[in-house]
Amino acid sequence: MLPWDARRARAAGSQQASAQFPFGRRLPCDIYWHGVSFHDNDIFSGQVNKFPGMTEMVRKITLSRAVRTMQDLFPVEYNFYPRSWILPEEFPLFVDEVQMMKESDPSWKPTFIVKPDGGCQGDGIYLVKDPSDVRLTGSLQNRPAVVQEYICKPLLVDKLKFDIRLYVLLKSLEPLEIYVAKDGLSRFCTEPYQEPTVKNLHQVFMHLTNYSLNIHSGNFIHSDNANTGSKRTFSSILCRLSSRGADVKKVWSDIISLVIKTIIALTPELKVYYQSDIPAGKPGPTCFQILGFDILLMKNLKPMLLEVNANPSMRIEHEQELSPGVFENVPSPVDEEVKVAVIRDTLRLVDPQKKKRKDIQEKFLAWFADGLEYDTSKTTEAGLPSLCLKQVFPKYAKQFNYLRLVDKVAALFIRFLGVKGTTKLGPTGFRTFIRNCKLSNSNFSMASVDILYIDITRRWNSMGIDHRESGMCLQAFVEAFFYLAQKKYKSLPLHEQVASLIDFCEYHLAALDEKRLVCGRGILERRSAVATSQTEGLQLTASAHNTPPKAQSHS
Ligand code: ADP
Repeated sequence: MLPWDARRARAAGSQQASAQFPFGRRLPCDIYWHGVSFHDNDIFSGQVNKFPGMTEMVRKITLSRAVRTMQDLFPVEYNFYPRSWILPEEFPLFVDEVQMMKESDPSWKPTFIVKPDGGCQGDGIYLVKDPSDVRLTGSLQNRPAVVQEYICKPLLVDKLKFDIRLYVLLKSLEPLEIYVAKDGLSRFCTEPYQEPTVKNLHQVFMHLTNYSLNIHSGNFIHSDNANTGSKRTFSSILCRLSSRGADVKKVWSDIISLVIKTIIALTPELKVYYQSDIPAGKPGPTCFQILGFDILLMKNLKPMLLEVNANPSMRIEHEQELSPGVFENVPSPVDEEVKVAVIRDTLRLVDPQKKKRKDIQEKFLAWFADGLEYDTSKTTEAGLPSLCLKQVFPKYAKQFNYLRLVDKVAALFIRFLGVKGTTKLGPTGFRTFIRNCKLSNSNFSMASVDILYIDITRRWNSMGIDHRESGMCLQAFVEAFFYLAQKKYKSLPLHEQVASLIDFCEYHLAALDEKRLVCGRGILERRSAVATSQTEGLQLTASAHNTPPKAQSHS
């Protein structure tokens, strides 16, 4: 059963209400399709199309922080994300670093893009040439933002800047399973691109590729053809690049690598949210999620990550103004070509009961195509076009597993969280972690451990990210862990220090587990020995009772 969220259904143009349960449903479902987040309904079984914490994780600030942690460990591997600073707290750092970079390279004439946290559709975004132009008063003070190096030399097609929306299915967190859609959308600006100058900085139709903005430009072209217009398929762009001799295979493999690395950056915190909402040992639900990756190709064809969307639009139609003030929803063939395949394949992949597969697909396709004259002859199993979602992880796991260090740090963090349902580590949990991993010694007393805990926790909590619970969040724990690794293994690169400390901790925890097991076994053996002797005692007593009176009298 598919309790489609009413908004999603409306967005996709359905008039068929029978498969929707907007007010919940008593019988459990196989798949729950939420419109916004995991918490839309209380679910205890089946599969939900949202992970707990995903919306929080892909906010501009959280994503920047998660990627930055990975950039600290693996700067070269994570150079697909523009240098970013978090405002207002890192404004002084931003000013200093820009100053330093300008001094070391006087020819560097950067532009920066300021993006309010939690914003979307280009809302509140503006460009500046100098840190002093960042608006630190008024709305920004109440609204934290990310300021990012602006990519000045994007690849242009027909003289226009464009970005790529790629759909990615995170099918499972543990084990990690990622699928990437074979095709995506290219969304075009509507004014010819020029490198940023003070004069053109405010021209949104030139610099921002958002569909929601450019649709309001007189130059926006709705096209029935995937190769032209302001929204095209990404494959049509690749065809053009290929005909110009570009190595499109390399472009794809760079994009896949960007996607896998970005998800690797997100998984540690997602696992903390997951264990909090779905504690281990509970029957479910399990989660999957379709994510929208926004990617910019640079002139040299290097893909750069702009952002990740937890709720990418699945609309397959657009509004058209028939006469002034009169709008009508009309099918958008480009959206339909890309999105229907993504949803169909997602359902196919997450279907828990393969025998029901055909039934669900037919229902869905009929529903989705309602009013769109979708060719339902395609709905038979044999008639389905080839899969559009391609597995990239674990397929390429060998190439990327070495990057999953923070995942292991998160596993340590989760082990010491203690109370089920929490996401933050208390001081006792932190002390136990230090003690069990044998990290305290004459140079690092337990008093210093407490100071470290208080310092880092206070600083992270003052950033005002999550006030629901007190204690140390994962990112703060990661910072403390990196500090301990640097202290213990001087003169190694950071990722080696961290990897060595992980090994050290895991070794001591395994030894402790072993000891507990032996102790437990010892206790069990002792208990069973006591139990046996008690039983024997009982038998003795019993036999004493059974002793013939004669013998008794002998004794
Ligand atoms: P929103 O969530 O508001 O859409 P984005 O981060 O996607 O915010 O940015 C909006 C648009 O701004 C992007 O689609 C892209 O065209 C442009 N943009 C964003 N960041 C950069 C950047 N670092 N360099 C160049 N262009 C960018």
